[in-house]
Amino acid sequence: MNAKFTMLAFICLIQINPFASAQKKGNELPESQIRKSETEAHLRFLASDELLGRRTGEQGNFVAARYIAEQFRKLGLKPVASDSGTNVSSYYQNVPFQKTGANGTGQIVADAEIMKSGDDWILMNGEASDLKAPIVYAGYGLENASKKWDDYKGLDVKGKIVLIQSGTPDVQTPSEIIASSIEKRKLAVEKGALGIIELFNAPIPWNVVNKYFAGEQISLAQGDDAALKSIPHAWVNGKEARFSRALRGVKEVEFKTSGRKSTLINSYNVAGFIPGTDPELKKEYVLLTAHYDHVGVGKQGGQPFTPQDSIFNGARDNAFGTVALLTAAEALSKKPAKRSVLVIALTGEEVGLLGSKYYASHPLMPLNKCILNLNSDGAGYNDTTIVAVMGLERTGVKAEIETASKFFGLGVFADPSPEQGLFDRSDNVSFAKEGIPAPTFTPGFREFNGDIMKNYHQVSDNPETVDFNYLLKFCQAYAYTTRLIADRKTAPQWIAGDKYEAAAKKLYGK
Ligand SMILES: [Zn+2]
Repeated sequence: MNAKFTMLAFICLIQINPFASAQKKGNELPESQIRKSETEAHLRFLASDELLGRRTGEQGNFVAARYIAEQFRKLGLKPVASDSGTNVSSYYQNVPFQKTGANGTGQIVADAEIMKSGDDWILMNGEASDLKAPIVYAGYGLENASKKWDDYKGLDVKGKIVLIQSGTPDVQTPSEIIASSIEKRKLAVEKGALGIIELFNAPIPWNVVNKYFAGEQISLAQGDDAALKSIPHAWVNGKEARFSRALRGVKEVEFKTSGRKSTLINSYNVAGFIPGTDPELKKEYVLLTAHYDHVGVGKQGGQPFTPQDSIFNGARDNAFGTVALLTAAEALSKKPAKRSVLVIALTGEEVGLLGSKYYASHPLMPLNKCILNLNSDGAGYNDTTIVAVMGLERTGVKAEIETASKFFGLGVFADPSPEQGLFDRSDNVSFAKEGIPAPTFTPGFREFNGDIMKNYHQVSDNPETVDFNYLLKFCQAYAYTTRLIADRKTAPQWIAGDKYEAAAKKLYGK
């Protein structure tokens, strides 16, 4: 190609390029000036072997939190939390967790039926005990405030073992069973029971329940140290009819367990605030979230590992999204939007969305001033020409997401693999439940297939295998989406009839 032709072609291009002015304007955006080396460095650090899989409450998790907090400081984000028990402002929101050790040994004996710990039941909580006591059946073991039902009516369980059913009469989903189980334990302790035997009846194979719950567990702490000294509480395989028959047929049982050791640990949500520029709109804010925790090392990961590679680096899940968060923090702090932006790197996602659950019940700023939560999380990607968005059609910000993604050369794909129920499987759901429109911005995929599973929660999810050109574009699109939403005239809304619409009416009062 000769020089003359090139010059001519160049002039023509300028004249016919309808995006020329948009591009010029775009180049003034701090999003456009983010360098690939910056996003790459963030990711290589957060997903490094030295951070040991960032498991909630462990050293690598704390180092990741520290890194994020110091990036916020460098960018000039305002701290909105305070050091616990003081007025000193901090980027850290302390999140107290209870860590429960692996299931121990023991047996429950009801007449001729001997049920073994680990095979037939799991101790969910409690110290080592050796009980022989009367057993009393107490329905679901619940007594709710509205007295819709009261399973303890007329029962004296003091000094006895309480036998109950899992869940509630209406619900037997695993999450409801877990949530109600804690409440049931509290109630039984209050009533002076010595132990609880709960017949686990969710429609999940017992070996799956056992595999999942018999290992180390992390939950939100229910109180102080004293609360850890719980009475023994067992989940017995309720699918075995002979167990429930035996337990309901006797007056007294033996309940012997080596106990599960519980300790209190802390982790942190890392929060920074960027005030908006518009005198009115700045009172509202967009909440950006991404979880920075992952699953840890070796056995903690729950998937195969080798002596050569035992670290679950979580480059895609979710160092990727955390870098998007840091990129948005950088772009918006350099040139703030009309509305304010609250940026929160969340802990405890991998152990049950616990960092976001804690935040939603202990918000640092009023939730009803939050117009949208833009979460970023993902299992991985297999299409670097798009971003995938959970809730694209539901949360009223499709136009902004599409405009911003297109600007950085990416298409948008709505709600891949609906059968996986992905909208409700990340931290956005903790905010959606409060009524806040809350899509999740995910690295590109159209289907949750083998390409994704290859790295999802595997030791192979390493930084070396990440496409850093794509990471940059993804992060820029996320940051620019945030800006467009924060600059909107009106707040986005759930589409009519959405399952979270009622919660929104309650939150925003309209
Ligand atoms: Zn994960």
